[in-house]
Amino acid sequence: SRLVRPDGVSEEQAYEAALRPRSLDELIGQERVREQLALVLTAARGRGRTPDHVLLSGPPGLGKTTLAMIIAAELGTSLRLTSGPAIQHAGDLAAILSGINEGDVLFVDEIHRMSRPAEELLYMAMEDFRVDVIVGKGPGATAIPLQIPQFTLVGATTRAGLLPGPLRDRFGFTAQLEYYEAAELHRIVDRSAALLGVHTTPKGGLEIASRSRGTPRIANRLLRRVRDYAEVRGSGVVDLDIAHRALDLYEVDRLGLDRLDRAVLDALCRSFAGGPVGVSTLAVAVGEERETVEEVAEPFLVRQGFLARTPRGRVATPTAWEHLGLRPPKAVTD
Ligand code: ADP
Repeated sequence: SRLVRPDGVSEEQAYEAALRPRSLDELIGQERVREQLALVLTAARGRGRTPDHVLLSGPPGLGKTTLAMIIAAELGTSLRLTSGPAIQHAGDLAAILSGINEGDVLFVDEIHRMSRPAEELLYMAMEDFRVDVIVGKGPGATAIPLQIPQFTLVGATTRAGLLPGPLRDRFGFTAQLEYYEAAELHRIVDRSAALLGVHTTPKGGLEIASRSRGTPRIANRLLRRVRDYAEVRGSGVVDLDIAHRALDLYEVDRLGLDRLDRAVLDALCRSFAGGPVGVSTLAVAVGEERETVEEVAEPFLVRQGFLARTPRGRVATPTAWEHLGLRPPKAVTD
């Protein structure tokens, strides 16, 4: 899926674009966020104003980019996409902001990774729709205030807590996206299957949904892998048996844990006797960045009841030991 096509878009990105819901009505799950957002947008439209800035937080693949696109579509405006790591200098942001049109939606993915000076420029832009452009260098430098059109910022982050307070406070609407239930993912798999022209049986579709880590992006990805399997080794129909066999081949276990999830649990139980252990140490043990362990693997493991965060570090729960087929040390079961 990393192969880049002649137009510079990876296969995965092309599928994601094709499968993205385009309106709030098409969106599946996240009922509360959907209802709240519909109100914010309708009210703003009624007043003829740009809506408040929106902060979306949650693990990767839950629909933050999709929601930003939907917000722009519902408002009938254009969307500009950028990301925190791409904005290293305040000037980068000033350039983006001075190029937007009245009412546009600016989407900043991974907004917590923006540089400090850019962040300060953003505060002013969010509040007063103004940026200071610095002209010249050293003692002779002057700040020239520049009015920019009113826009709606949609920021995305894995955890709202990663944002500095002053930035967080400037969002009028904040939504925390939660992992999806299997039934919701099943609807997403069915919708994607219909769009891709894949025939799935109800049990086959549910099997993919239940092993998707509560994440629509993973559900769509697994559907494509299972479809490959069905076409090459079966009759093309995604039924329960095909789904089982394909997902076992791709090492997605019955509870949807992927390789990283299992590596984290494995290290926690086998190398650190179930913890407590610090997340940095755990990350080194599995050869991953601390951020990836903390923001991708951990939230799912916590939610599934495999791992607990304690003041002294991460601890494996009895369920984790059981899932790995190991016997917990005495202290854990007591
Ligand atoms: P994020 O920005 O949070 O990483 P995306 O918005 O890129 O996630 O979503 C990943 C993929 O999952 C998209 O291609 C989209 O097709 C699908 N998706 C996300 N949320 C939903 C949803 N609520 N209903 C249907 N499909 C969804």
